[in-house]
Amino acid sequence: MRKSAFPSKEHWYKGNIHSHTTLSDGAIAPMDQIRLYKDAGYDFLAFTDHNVMNDDPSWSKEGPLMLKAWERDILYSYKVKCTHIVGLFSPDCQLSTFRREPGDKRTMTDQDLVDQMKKENVFLSLAHPTWSRMEPEEILNLNGFDAVEVFNTGTERLCHEGHAEWVWDMLLRHGRHVLGIACDDTHSHTEKDDHFGGWTYVNCNDLSWASIIDALKKGDYYSTMGPIIKDWGLDDGKVYIECSPCSEIHFITYPARGKACYGENLTSMEYALKGGEAYVRVEVIDSSGKKAWTNPIYF
Ligand SMILES: [Zn+2]
Ligand SMILES: [Zn+2]
Repeated sequence: MRKSAFPSKEHWYKGNIHSHTTLSDGAIAPMDQIRLYKDAGYDFLAFTDHNVMNDDPSWSKEGPLMLKAWERDILYSYKVKCTHIVGLFSPDCQLSTFRREPGDKRTMTDQDLVDQMKKENVFLSLAHPTWSRMEPEEILNLNGFDAVEVFNTGTERLCHEGHAEWVWDMLLRHGRHVLGIACDDTHSHTEKDDHFGGWTYVNCNDLSWASIIDALKKGDYYSTMGPIIKDWGLDDGKVYIECSPCSEIHFITYPARGKACYGENLTSMEYALKGGEAYVRVEVIDSSGKKAWTNPIYF
């Protein structure tokens, strides 16, 4: 009998959880950014300005549901690279406006940063690890984040450093239950630069701050650049998926089992578990090369 990995297939909310405005180094003012995402059909949005968390009650009045969030950074390795962590606050957060003083990040380690953010009860996503030039041991030594950005539109379009499937699978191989996120990391003016390239579809009962954060923490969502994942889950020793027409469907596992499927207008596929898989996650790719990613199922 089929058991879907999604709690309900009825309510889906589209959102981008990583964007910048003129409150930090983004080119677009908050209200203009809100209108752009509203017009593009987004249900929720987060401003993740660098080291500053702002909240203006007027933001949610006419546009998508706004999540309180920020992106914090820490320089390391002689300032040639830096770790960035996106944090989405829960509704019980008491902060309305917050700015971290620049001085306090110089003495911190990456782990200090994650631990400090985690204390504030935030959903933590490791931002663009490929662009950050993080080494495997730096990533594996960092504990406590909920998700990793498997796709970041801004760094992909800037310098082809937006994909991080290699980071995600490395963490999963080491038994880390980490989710994947696709997002924009919007900085610029024009749509073709870094808007609307990757987002999440969250599956929860209502469009409220609490429900979206809760669903993100549980992994009740999928990430996409366009393809739709209609359903996926387990069916008597098989993993099944149903999606919009695609030309590739891949089942990724550890140890090295899994399955790759190529064709025209593929809308469903199954993978018979071979035994011993620690996890399975699925990627679908449409004829224009746009991808969607499920979160993992663990065994
Ligand atoms: Zn960043
Ligand atoms: Zn960013």
